[in-house]
Amino acid sequence: MRMKGKNVIVTGGASGIGLASVERCLEEGASVVIADLEGGDGQAQAARLDDRCDGRCLFKACDVTDTAQVDRLFADTVAELGSVDAVFNNAGIGGICPTDELEDEEYLKVIDINLNGVFRVARAALRVMYRQGSGSIVNCASILGVFGQSQTAAYTAAKGGVVNMTRTLAIEAAPKGVRVNAIGPGYIDTPLLEALDDDMLQGLIGLHPIGRLGRPAEIANAFLFLASDEASFVTGAHLLVDGGFTAGKS
Ligand code: NAP
Repeated sequence: MRMKGKNVIVTGGASGIGLASVERCLEEGASVVIADLEGGDGQAQAARLDDRCDGRCLFKACDVTDTAQVDRLFADTVAELGSVDAVFNNAGIGGICPTDELEDEEYLKVIDINLNGVFRVARAALRVMYRQGSGSIVNCASILGVFGQSQTAAYTAAKGGVVNMTRTLAIEAAPKGVRVNAIGPGYIDTPLLEALDDDMLQGLIGLHPIGRLGRPAEIANAFLFLASDEASFVTGAHLLVDGGFTAGKS
């Protein structure tokens, strides 16, 4: 039980990588808040998992583009559970569009969820964790935080920002007992990739020397490590979990 007694918040926890991370933390004894959009799968997933895990899973509606909702998520979690020991700052959306056709609205939406949302959640987490004198924040970045890819200007800008913001937050937070890291997944088999056709998927698989897409549980395992005390000397890292995608590129 690597997370027994710990309280964890996972944004975007109703689907894909977030949901797998919720399940993994529950298996390891944590109490977990699924923080996701109102009206999505979060409520149902939390009810299903709560039944299986002795009341240790709850849902809180939170849109990471709304500062008031993010701050309320943390205040309510502290009021109910007493502390926030780890956060997976994971909510995010994709976005593929040739840059000359990319409108302000779509560009700004991706930035507001994938970059500004990470900032809002990290800021709220730091405020709570500084009072506690402990905690671990894990930001979800991407291989596209360190490499470019055609037609992903907003997404790559956001993820590159997440990688470097993580380093700054880690330096600030270390003296106060809080660790901040990022995970950089390769392409992972989740609903985020549903927009891609078979040819595109085969092309993406070919970019991973391991010869397949990643599984959500493989990112969840990396989150679990960084969230837990096993990573007590790890801060400011961008842990690439990418089936070798980046190995030949650096
Ligand atoms: P996913 O299955 O689509 O899950 C994302 C979750 O975030 C969904 O539950 C979604 O809700 C939620 N969400 C979207 N906008 C939100 C908002 N404003 N506030 C709160 N929650 C919001 O995608 P995933 O693949 O697991 O992605 C999780 C993270 O991994 C993202 O940050 C993504 O960029 C990153 N990542 C994914 C891959 C990949 O290949 N899958 C690779 C690298 C990095 P709805 O479903 O209701 O919209």
